[in-house]
Amino acid sequence: MKVLTDLRQILGEQGVLDADTLSERAAGIWRQDESLSGIALARPDSTGGVAKILAYCHENRIPVITHGGLTGLVHGADTQDDAVILSLERMNRIESIQPNQRTLTAQAGVTLSAAQEAAAEEDLIFPLDLGARGSATLGGNAATNAGGNRVLRYGMMRDLVLGVEAVLADGTVINALNGLVKNNAGYDLKQLFLGSEGTLGVITRLTLRLFEAPQTRCMAFTGVSDFEAVKGLLRHMDRCLGGSLSAFEVLWSDYYALVTSPPARSQPPVPHGHSYYVLLESQGVDAELDQQRFQAALESALNQGLIADAAVATSERDCEGFWGIRDDVDQVFVDGPALLFDVSLPIDDMEYYVAEVKQRISNTQAKACWVFGHVGDGNLHLAVQTPPSVITDRRTIEQCVYEPLAACKGSVSAEHGIGLEKKDWLPISRSQAEIDLMTSLKRSLDPKSILNPGKVVDA
Ligand code: ZN
Repeated sequence: MKVLTDLRQILGEQGVLDADTLSERAAGIWRQDESLSGIALARPDSTGGVAKILAYCHENRIPVITHGGLTGLVHGADTQDDAVILSLERMNRIESIQPNQRTLTAQAGVTLSAAQEAAAEEDLIFPLDLGARGSATLGGNAATNAGGNRVLRYGMMRDLVLGVEAVLADGTVINALNGLVKNNAGYDLKQLFLGSEGTLGVITRLTLRLFEAPQTRCMAFTGVSDFEAVKGLLRHMDRCLGGSLSAFEVLWSDYYALVTSPPARSQPPVPHGHSYYVLLESQGVDAELDQQRFQAALESALNQGLIADAAVATSERDCEGFWGIRDDVDQVFVDGPALLFDVSLPIDDMEYYVAEVKQRISNTQAKACWVFGHVGDGNLHLAVQTPPSVITDRRTIEQCVYEPLAACKGSVSAEHGIGLEKKDWLPISRSQAEIDLMTSLKRSLDPKSILNPGKVVDA
């Protein structure tokens, strides 16, 4: 086949897998039973290789779908028979760390956990963290603007990347690698590529922002009686902890019951019966002083009626156990299939929003709707349990979850992106003028629409 031969001429035999070989690979970390499809899978080991592949595909109008660790959840990396898959798996080198500048420069195929470990060797942290850290790549994290558990303190990927090198659809290399925190010399070009899900260019290298590593952490699970108190508690803890609050995770009572009752492994650290459960984490540098301050903040919260009960972690093991409860999302699949959603909205609208969604869901065949999330960031996760027959009618459930967001100007995607899955719902969160501007950016950067075609917006 001509394309395969041409690609092998560009990258060498090792650099390209044919259609049969690539079909032996799984479509994603969560989709082991589906396989990849495409003309070929190209595995360049340098930016120059990526540029040559893109120039060739641009010339010949061949779709290119870029792959990182394939841990996405919104079908943002779905392949098609007539496309070349561009995998950055061989571009997995950490190039340098500048401890004084507190930056790390790496190729896009480096895994998140490898970057975290490299930072740790210099007593620094790269604070982005999420469950799929061992597989997810920096390029994928950047292309999808990943979030995770410590956004409250450090921000999302858009806040953590100081510079990128990216290749445009026609093979032009844009080197915007830059380790400066302040850089107001014109448009912030890197932001074109961050969160664009591989539709505007291919990120090949990144310079990340590192932070001094916290030395200690304090954690508590608290029971809270109403949502007004949840909102009050967020402000109270943030005020009392002087900027060290690193997580404010809320579990609605039915989700808390699910993840702290058999068959879940965890025991409830705070008894069942409260309306909300808030997981609090603060990171600091002085074990004794931090614990005193954390304890004092909890006591004053108790005195003000912001919390009804609390269990304080007394060891690192307790801390791991508390996070284990919050992150035991697999429990939603124990009794059958479930659909997962990530939305964001103003905290003042959350109580009404959740009540409205639960009301709407109760009129469908769905069996349960669990809610939990990074409430400190305005981000809720919803898991809707459905009988197997309903899985095909996902749209009805999506309607229940997404439509009420319009009234409070919420977002249909807090952290997972748009991909194919949420494209139809984009108008809930974006005006027509915004979508038109996104489309014209797409047409300007990728005039032949070869980059991850059909994802995010149509062009
Ligand atoms: Zn999340």
